Amino acid sequence: MMENVIIVGSGPAGLTAALYTAREGLNPLVISGMAFGGQLQLTTVVENFPAFPDGIPGPDLVMRIRNQAQKFGARFIDEDLTGIEADGDPFKVMVNEKEYESRSIIIATGASAKWLGLDSEQRLIGRGVSSCATCDGPLYRNKKVAVVGGGDTAMEDSLFLSKFAREVIIIHRRDKFRASKILQSRVMSTSNIKIRWNSIVDEVIGSEFVKGIRIKDTVNGTLDEIQIDGLFVAIGHAPNTSFLKGKLKLDEKGYIITRDEVFTDIPGIFVAGDVADKRYRQAITAAASGAKAALEVRAFLM
Ligand code: NAP
Repeated sequence: MMENVIIVGSGPAGLTAALYTAREGLNPLVISGMAFGGQLQLTTVVENFPAFPDGIPGPDLVMRIRNQAQKFGARFIDEDLTGIEADGDPFKVMVNEKEYESRSIIIATGASAKWLGLDSEQRLIGRGVSSCATCDGPLYRNKKVAVVGGGDTAMEDSLFLSKFAREVIIIHRRDKFRASKILQSRVMSTSNIKIRWNSIVDEVIGSEFVKGIRIKDTVNGTLDEIQIDGLFVAIGHAPNTSFLKGKLKLDEKGYIITRDEVFTDIPGIFVAGDVADKRYRQAITAAASGAKAALEVRAFLM
């Protein structure tokens, strides 16, 4: 069977593309992946998605969009994509041993936050460990939090968190930030942001929820424990594009190079969401680009 459109990915971008293409009667097939829902699965309450004044848990938000898309006929395969043929006519998408042919594809595989890689960090994700200050920051009103990283994201996250938290401690592995000067100077002039230079997080402390962190000095190796209520890891994101190497144009960090936000260099292959967006990375902007990609698929198939 020849599909009209296969959507790869199931965060807000892929699901909104599914909703739009389903309502167009295109009967989309979504390869949603084993980790259905993307980064929203890792967030607690989303308070900045319009229409939810009381906030909505990230996993509930993606499930609602999925149900909405399903209602209009979107079909889902909850497995990971194992390969893609982007040069053929038709395009081919492989999922384990099965091959699916399609007239068009929307790639919405998102990006993944980079983590420190500590077992204790992984165990406490969603229980005080977060990679999304915009999503989870307001939950830390009058609390003490730490942010790991020295780039623009770490600075922006710290500034955002400083509006809610009693104290924000930036943990950075060197004695210099790589962030833009303007963000650095804002951080330096914010009274409730403190900086621990030459430091890495060695262990996240807490059984059910984060209670503190153990910090190691990168110069002299000394260990130190500090009590915190939340740990924000802001050491960068990596787009989920390894399966596209040599097939689509990617930039040096692996993001898909697009034209007018949703077009790739191959007619019929479109892009939505964080897989091509290193700037905004919000659920609402991803959903919006999913809608745009879907509208371009409609135009392409006409
Ligand atoms: P980034 O610039 O790659 O910075 C990552 C930071 O995390 C670096 O300071 C790095 O330390 C640190 N780091 C990396 N791996 C680490 C590890 N395993 N343990 C401890 N620290 C680690 O990433 P980003 O801040 O997310 O920014 C990504 C891009 O988006 C940049 O181009 C940035 O300019 C852009 N951005 C722009 C804005 C804005 O313009 N408003 C906002 C956000 C992001 P080192 O410095 O020692 O390498």
